[in-house]
Amino acid sequence: MQIAVLTIFPEMFDLFWSHGIVRRAIEQQIVSAAAVNIRDFAPDRHHVTDDRPYGGGCGMVMKPEPLAGAIRAAREKAPGARTILMTPQGRVFAQAVAAELAELPGLILVCGRYEGVDDRLYGTLIDEELSIGDYVLTGGELPAMVVIDAVTRLIPGALGGEDSAERDSFSAGRLEHAHYTRPPVFEESEVPGVLLTGHHRNIERWRLASSLMRTFVNRPDLLRDRPLTDAEAAVLRGWHADIARLLGDDRAAAPVRPGNGQR
Ligand code: SAM
Repeated sequence: MQIAVLTIFPEMFDLFWSHGIVRRAIEQQIVSAAAVNIRDFAPDRHHVTDDRPYGGGCGMVMKPEPLAGAIRAAREKAPGARTILMTPQGRVFAQAVAAELAELPGLILVCGRYEGVDDRLYGTLIDEELSIGDYVLTGGELPAMVVIDAVTRLIPGALGGEDSAERDSFSAGRLEHAHYTRPPVFEESEVPGVLLTGHHRNIERWRLASSLMRTFVNRPDLLRDRPLTDAEAAVLRGWHADIARLLGDDRAAAPVRPGNGQR
């Protein structure tokens, strides 16, 4: 995948490109990445990229000409890339969006500053607007890094083991299970015994239950919005029966969400 970030602070990306999964993906040529300075496309002598807003008011607006020049140049280098403006007003970024973007041949991420960009760029040179959440940052560089990081780790080969992205939170519509490493006892708290047995099926069962429990407690909306798998429904039925027994309720066998569990 070809990634170009258009920014007035390209140096912010120097450290980003040189660490962790993103660095490895670049080294292995799974992605190519460049931070392009929007100032280089400003036609005037002082490379001005912002101006006062028409109609008055506070703040500055990013001028359309340098941005248009930078976008056109990036598109020439990466035909087929999607041009995305980072803005708090865009579609909210999520794991499913990251998975969708990971399929593309390229991304051109446009980082706004000040009050944002001249509105005439929308609908012509911008394919899509993305927000990383309902809060306002001072620039689009951190949001672009968030998108690049989340997308890169979903590109086949980037993580080394494909398995780890599939198990990540949200990929299977749940939060991921709890993790433990050595030592087996830390400040009187023990690693769950089943994880030390080497019994793979029991470990998988435990992990599914742990994942479901975390999701049920922290993000029940993730379970509400989709059909349950057979394995998930079986775990929930087990809990249901246990809870009913604790309550002394004989109707413990009542099925959980009839009609679900078909996957
Ligand atoms: N005046 C704009 C508004 O209220 O919608 C906010 C502009 S913000 C101070 C400057 C730039 O930061 C934006 O153009 C955008 O590129 C970036 N930005 C800020 N918050 C963001 C978010 N939640 N998601 C994506 N980009 C964001």
